[in-house]
Amino acid sequence: MGYERDAIARMNGYEPGKQPQSREIIKLNTNENPFTPCQGVMAALHQIEADSLRRYPSPMADAFREIAAKVHHITPDNIVAVNGGDELLRLMLTTFVDPGKPIGIIDPSYSLYPVLAEIHGSPVVRVEANPNWSIPSNLARTMNQASVQVTFVVNPHAPSGCLASVDTIAALASELSGVLLVDEAYVDFVDPEMHHDLTMLVNRFDNLILLRTLSKGYSLAGLRFGYGLGAQSLIQPIRTKTADSYPTDAVAQTLAYAALEHRNEAAKTWQLVREERTTLCQALCDLGFSVPTSQSNFLLCGVGADATRAKSIQETLEKRGFFVRYFDHPRLCDKLRISLGTPEQNQRLLKELREIVKG
Ligand SMILES: *Cc1c(COP(=O)(O)O)cnc(C)c1O
Repeated sequence: MGYERDAIARMNGYEPGKQPQSREIIKLNTNENPFTPCQGVMAALHQIEADSLRRYPSPMADAFREIAAKVHHITPDNIVAVNGGDELLRLMLTTFVDPGKPIGIIDPSYSLYPVLAEIHGSPVVRVEANPNWSIPSNLARTMNQASVQVTFVVNPHAPSGCLASVDTIAALASELSGVLLVDEAYVDFVDPEMHHDLTMLVNRFDNLILLRTLSKGYSLAGLRFGYGLGAQSLIQPIRTKTADSYPTDAVAQTLAYAALEHRNEAAKTWQLVREERTTLCQALCDLGFSVPTSQSNFLLCGVGADATRAKSIQETLEKRGFFVRYFDHPRLCDKLRISLGTPEQNQRLLKELREIVKG
């Protein structure tokens, strides 16, 4: 028997995708950007001065919030910087959910949400995603009936990559009586032709927060930097009350600033990922797999009705040095989530998959 709270003793904790140290492995299991961070970010890293490490950083990452405000055409007061997007997810509960009161999610989605709820002592109200992975029409009604204070919606959806439109999100925000957190971890990979931009909703709804992260789009998962966008009345209590006193460190703030300053460079990788998405999706379909259209940097690949097949393909791939993600979940156990790699990595994966399919 330990000293931890009962709720903590009972829970399992989040199970992250494997992070193998070997560089030989082709790692397509945790949706990292396969391309390196841009030159501008690396130059900023090399220019970091000793004095910026000696002093405490800007408590609220002021310079970063300034540039982020310019990028998104809002004010710094609409922005909170956090130590990775996951921290903002936790702060959503700390700030807006009374202990013991429920949160709402779409099932399946990001598996961290229920873990955070467990830590907080919150039950989880789940609404199952539509068969085509779109947002169920009864979502707001269900959440309102259960007095849910925060509903988490990942858009583009993970693990399917399905994108809900601006109108759908706006309707949801206006219908929900609690706060809507739209987790935009993958939004950078959305096809520009969709003209998808939720930031203009921030000033229209006082119950909407958008989560952004530099982990995926900007190839900076190792940096741990994310931010939230929302109405001042939502952002203010997070920034001034519930966030850590110095949530983001001096190095992270400097590099995050550089990442946004040079975002045209990152945008080139987004385009490369989109091209690979089209190519790999077609190739997987040609192999007989079913793959929904993705607006993200991963594909959800349905491998067939036999529930053991997905797991067995994942294990075979792993033995051959290719990591992809398998989820033990009723809607996902016949599927594999494959992060898009470099063109060369994707071709090598396809070659393996062709051999496996041929048996
Ligand atoms: C990656 C990811 C995040 C945030 O990741 P951080 O690395 O903590 O910024 C949030 N939500 C989803 C769905 C993600 O995939």
